Amino acid sequence: MTNCDHTLCKTSALKEAERVCEQLGARFTDQRRNVFEILWQSHKAMTAADIMNEMTNKQPPITYRALEFLKKSGLIHHVTSLNAYVGCIHAKDPNHIGQLLICTNCHNIDEIEPKKAVSELIKAAKNQDFTPSLTHIEMLGICKTCNNATS
Ligand SMILES: [Zn+2]
Ligand SMILES: [Zn+2]
Ligand SMILES: [Zn+2]
Repeated sequence: MTNCDHTLCKTSALKEAERVCEQLGARFTDQRRNVFEILWQSHKAMTAADIMNEMTNKQPPITYRALEFLKKSGLIHHVTSLNAYVGCIHAKDPNHIGQLLICTNCHNIDEIEPKKAVSELIKAAKNQDFTPSLTHIEMLGICKTCNNATS
């Protein structure tokens, strides 16, 4: 999200994560929280290596396990195009299919929910006897901030 009050984004994301964990009967362990807070420093996608660099405990399995948990719980998205991760802004709805707008210049990720367009797309895929297994759709482009910087 551009022009956000990011302290608010981060606080509400953390609250949401705690609630989701409670609902799942899972613990929001220090490692999970550590990964989550690193990711929520901004809306930019980060690779596992970037995240690991900032972890208190830099052992790779710890970061990977925490990432896997957060992804499965719908709290973060794995951005396939960048092989990186980003916090989800719609974590309230674990079954949502977000549309990620990925800036290829600064790796900022915005997430919109064009529900009708997405369901049309899924319907079209199913008409081809294709079974989609997705949590989000990715669109590459240039974000507003980067656009303004070049014009
Ligand atoms: Zn924000
Ligand atoms: Zn999402
Ligand atoms: Zn950008």
